[in-house]
Amino acid sequence: MPEEIVGRILRLRGYRAYRWEFDEAASSLTIWVRQEESDPFYACGGCGIGSRSIHSVRERRVRDLPWGTWKVWLWLEVHRVHCRRCGVRTEGIEFVEGKQPYTRRFAEAVARDCEDAAVRRVAAKWRLSVQTVLRIDKRALSAWSISRPRRPLRHMGVDEIFWGKGKCLTVVSNLETGEPLWAGPERKRETLDRFFTEYLPPRRRRWVRAVCVDMWEPYLQSLREHLPRAAIVFDKFHVMKHVNAAVDETRRQEFFRQKGPLRALMRGKRWLLLTRWHNLTRTKKSQLQQALALNRRLFKAYYLKEQLERLWSYTYEGAAARFFIQWLLSLRWQRLPAFKKLARTLYDHFDGILNYCRHKVPFGVVEAINGNLRAVIRRGRGYRDHEYLILKVQKSTAQARLARAA
Ligand SMILES: [Zn+2]
Repeated sequence: MPEEIVGRILRLRGYRAYRWEFDEAASSLTIWVRQEESDPFYACGGCGIGSRSIHSVRERRVRDLPWGTWKVWLWLEVHRVHCRRCGVRTEGIEFVEGKQPYTRRFAEAVARDCEDAAVRRVAAKWRLSVQTVLRIDKRALSAWSISRPRRPLRHMGVDEIFWGKGKCLTVVSNLETGEPLWAGPERKRETLDRFFTEYLPPRRRRWVRAVCVDMWEPYLQSLREHLPRAAIVFDKFHVMKHVNAAVDETRRQEFFRQKGPLRALMRGKRWLLLTRWHNLTRTKKSQLQQALALNRRLFKAYYLKEQLERLWSYTYEGAAARFFIQWLLSLRWQRLPAFKKLARTLYDHFDGILNYCRHKVPFGVVEAINGNLRAVIRRGRGYRDHEYLILKVQKSTAQARLARAA
């Protein structure tokens, strides 16, 4: 009778348990199983064809789902068979994937836990090493990724993300699906070159219409070489970062030019200056107005920054260009050295700013993907493996999309 109970709990189709052993000290249960057919046949692990001609038999131990507080191990009989097509091959077993030392259902359960818990927590729960959990999770994610249809890359985003001590990653994403596609260390030209060789072979490059990127020369060099026909669109957030830096530079210069009481009034206004006017509350607005009223140059700098935002509202290139020339002209006689430098940079990269008129790439998506990546990196270690990191973010993005649709 116990044999029947063990068999029913195990639920491995076609297999029968014939021996078991409890190890109290390790709280583990070991079960020996074999095929129950009187005249069994074995599926070739290479091609799947059935065969009855056995070459040799070995035993293999695999980890299975726990029974209550018992850790469960299965000893399987594994046959090597003569296959008509492949010669001598190891049989394929339905509930074990390849040479993995655990059953398919065990790996699935571990991978499912990894979806919403840190790897270290999962490892502790299943009494596995962190390395094993990482391996199981990556394997499951790769299988999921391969099963998905691959969509052509039309709007590509290139961004860099910094974390830890001077560590930097280049991340390439699909702006239409809002998913990262690839990541590589550092932000060099070679990094992006590697993306093209590893991920985007020449025949798939022709789909790329526009690339949203930072004004960063190494990236631009690589893009010009590999995607000569795609339009380069400079990311608004990155451009505005340069503008904010110019405002901040002006603030610093003005602060040191002032004396005593005026300085005190300007102190602590940095954040106000870098925030957009329409995002400020009424009290903050009046505080900022007070500070700006005291210093004409600072007022001008803030005003120039606010003005420039309009550049991205145009759909007609001629109008955008006219607006930009006006903006440049209004810089004259202002004695704002930081803005002089900024104007030079913007002028040199103006093509890429104008391209936004034709290619309305979704800027917010780049930031959102960046945020997702940061969240995943913060949650656990093991992301030195960039491929794993990307898979992880893809899965969570896909799940978030499903949750929104439901
Ligand atoms: Zn075969």
